This record gives sequence, structure tokens and C-alpha cells, in this order.
Amino acid sequence: MRYEAVIGLEVHAQLLTQSKIFCACSTRFGAAANTQTCPVCTGMPGVLPVLNEMAVEYAVRMGMATACTIRQRSRFARKNYFYPDLPKGYQISQFEEPLCTQGHLTIETQAGERTVRIERIHLEEDAGKTLHDQDPDSSLVDLNRTGTPLIEIVSEPDLRDPLEAHAYLAKLKQILVYLEICDGNMEEGSLRCDANVSLRPVGESRLGTKTEIKNLNSFKGVEAALRHEIERQAALLDGGERVVQETRLWDAQRGETRVMRSKEEAHDYRYFPEPDLLPLVLDAAWLERVRAALPELPDAKRERFQVQYSLGRYDAHVLTGTQALADYYESAVAAGGEPKRIANWVQTELQGLLNARGIGIEASPISAASLSELVRLIEADRISGKMAKEVFAEMQRSGEAPGSIVERRGMQQISDRTALLPVVQQILAANPGAVEKYRDGKTKLLGFFVGQAMKATRGRANPQELEQLLRESLDSS
Ligand code: ADP
Ligand code: ZN
Ligand code: MG
Repeated sequence: MRYEAVIGLEVHAQLLTQSKIFCACSTRFGAAANTQTCPVCTGMPGVLPVLNEMAVEYAVRMGMATACTIRQRSRFARKNYFYPDLPKGYQISQFEEPLCTQGHLTIETQAGERTVRIERIHLEEDAGKTLHDQDPDSSLVDLNRTGTPLIEIVSEPDLRDPLEAHAYLAKLKQILVYLEICDGNMEEGSLRCDANVSLRPVGESRLGTKTEIKNLNSFKGVEAALRHEIERQAALLDGGERVVQETRLWDAQRGETRVMRSKEEAHDYRYFPEPDLLPLVLDAAWLERVRAALPELPDAKRERFQVQYSLGRYDAHVLTGTQALADYYESAVAAGGEPKRIANWVQTELQGLLNARGIGIEASPISAASLSELVRLIEADRISGKMAKEVFAEMQRSGEAPGSIVERRGMQQISDRTALLPVVQQILAANPGAVEKYRDGKTKLLGFFVGQAMKATRGRANPQELEQLLRESLDSS
């Protein structure tokens, strides 16, 4: 392609505080419409906002986790616009002097690790919801969401293709969830994204004219919308036309973007400092407490897993995907078993089971202790890898501990030579033709004998012992 795409994302994350950002109303999702409102969040005259300290703390956590400068003094501003779901006629946001600036995070791309700079993270309040599909004659407004705390995370235009945009968004979500400040659910709107994209000739350093795409409510949607928009812009430029700076809406059904408003129609938000709130001034000691309480973050955890458990980068990356998965893995390892073997079981059998049931690791029917026990049974040669899979299947059905399943079903592996020898002798005696061929040089027949012995022991023979015993018996005539 003769153009390079340039992408910057503006991401809104709903913070998981109990109460709203400027009043004591609950933020709980799913209540009957307009039951979680008060004079403050419905914009009655004469009321005053009071800032929720937890919302500030959550925003600061995200700033720290993305290496931002946390400004000890920031300010709130009014962003003025008219819409029925915004009862005050303005949104309290931050404009000049945002809470966090100049951070960055790293993403994994096909070309390796890349750094994406974050321009700013600021605090603001969410608007309500306008419902167009509840009443045939009118639109309805639900103000329960009004005043829910949000952070807006604005990236620099550092992303170069839709896959990178996806990876960046996924990384943001991962960090938000690790920090326990947002549930990261795009489908439910607790994580929302606007995507800005422009093209420029390869090698050009100045930025091209961008469009902004709204209405993206899934990771796939972000990728698909960007792909579509890049093609649309490329076709314009190829035809000698210009890209017009505008806001476009993604239509997921039709798989295309269409104009929402042009630059001329762009809102003038008439930002001005919020007169009802003092500048937000953060105490250095308070900031230090917040920093000290940060959990270990995904990158650091991945690196530690690589070193501490001698895992490859990929394994460590997968196992630190969520805090819950990482915790599960670590408690299985702590209960005993070779870390790499446990990593394999978690990533293949266990993950397969969870995917099939559509559940998360938190709801795993197999505890970390049970998985560790299973791995230790393999390592002690009590069961073979193949039998372990059978035991695993039984564990997920009944929740029974692996040791007791092995015991009850008589599945112990037969490793004892004196127990295996009669089996071997019987097989050789029953197949004189094959024995002769083997001795004539068709040593590939060893597999056949192993198979026969496995059948005779219902899979319980220790394969290494069995093979050795067969070789010895066949080689000595
Ligand atoms: P606006 O004035 O439209 O709000 P900003 O400069 O504030 O634009 O940037 C908003 C978002 O758009 C940021 O994420 C930024 O990285 C991105 N962006 C800015 N310019 C471009 C461009 N030319 N192409 C792609 N993305 C851009
Ligand atoms: Zn309220
Ligand atoms: Mg802007």
C-alpha cells in the first residue's frame, strides 16, 4: 500500500465506584429507569457537586499504571452542549490541566513490542441514556447513568494499523481490569472507543486529514471500522480527491461508516473552568499511598513468570492474561508440580474446558489444588499422560479429586517390571509371525507390540518401561 495509516484512539472507561462522581447516587447497573437520581445528577438549580475521592484515586491508578505524569493540581471544566440526556446542559470534564499527561504503554505486534504514547487521561461524568426503542411515539430518557465517573484516555497518533489499534485497546482493558477500576465490557458500554484515522504517503512525516469514527461497541467493530475507513480514504486519495475532516458513524450491520457531522457542524463546546469546584489538589503523601497499593501489572507479572517459572514469553503472556488466571496458575504451582507442565495443562485442557463451557477461570470446576495433584500423579509415574486426560474428564464431571478417581477406577499405571513381564511374554507368544519379522529387521513392529500390550492392560502399562521390556525380550532370542 502506498499510504501509511495513522490512528489515535479516545477511550472512555466507566469507573467501578459505588457512587457517582459528584453525588451519592448509586452507580449500580440495571435498576429501574430514573430510580438512581437526585437533584445534583438531574441538574436542579442551586445544587453543588461534591467530588468522589474514589473516582480520583481510580483515575490516578490508571495514570500511574501507564507511566503518566500525575498533576498535583488539575482543574475541572464545563463542556457545553445540548442533548436530552444531559440535564445540566453541560458535562463536567477536564480540559486544560487534566489529571494525567504524557504516559505510555507497550503492545505486542507482529513486528515485536511497540510503545504507544498517551497524551492525557482526564476525569469526567457520564451522560444519561436516550432510549429510542421503548415507546412508539417518543424517545425516553433514563438518568441513572448520569454522573457515573469516567476517565477518558487519549492516545497520541502512534498506531499504524487496525490490528495495533485492537492490541492497544486490549492492553488498556487488561490494565483497567487488573487495577479493578473498570470491568472493561465494551458490549455493555463500560468501555467505549472513538477512533481517529488518517492516511499519508509512505515516508511522509506530516499528518494527513483525519476522520473520527464513533459508535464502536466491540473490539471487532473497532478493527472492522478502521479497515473500512482506511480503504475509503485510500480510494478518495487515489481518485485525486481530499479526505474531509468529519465525524463518521460506524454501521456494524452494513459494515460501513457514514457522515455524522462535518467540521463546519462540529460543536463549539465553549469550555470554561467549572466555577462550582475548586481546583483538584493532590497531596504527595496520598499519591504515594495510591502508588504503593498498585497491584503487580501485566508486563511486570509476565516478566516475573518468565524468570520464576522458566516459562517462554508466550506462555507467560497467556498465563498473565488476567489476574484471576495468573493467581490460579501460581496457586497450582505452589501446591506442587513442574511449572512448565502445569502451564501446559492450564493452557490446553483447562482452557479448552472453560472455553467449551463459556466460563471464566473463577468458575473453573477444577481447583488449582486438583490440577496440581493430577500433574503430580503424572510426575510420580502413577498415571500416564493419556490416562491423565481421562482422569481430567472425570474430574470436570464429578469434581472428584484425581487421586481418588485413580484409586477407585483402578487406573494406576503399571510400571513394575515383574508385573509387565507376563504381559509381554503372552503377547510375544500369541504373535510368532510378527516376532519373526521383527527379528528379521522389521523393527517398526515394536509399535504393534506396544499397542497390543496397552490393549491388554487397558492403557495402564507405563509406555517407557513397556518399550524397554519388549526390546529386551525381542532382542534376546
Ligand atoms: P480533536 O481536535 O479532533 O479533538 P486531537 O488532536 O485532540 O483532535 O486528537 C484526538 C485524537 O485523534 C487523539 O487520539 C489523536 O491521537 C488523534 N489524532 C489527531 N490527529 C490525527 C491524525 N491526523 N490522524 C489520526 N489520528 C489523529
Ligand atoms: Zn445523584
Ligand atoms: Mg481533542
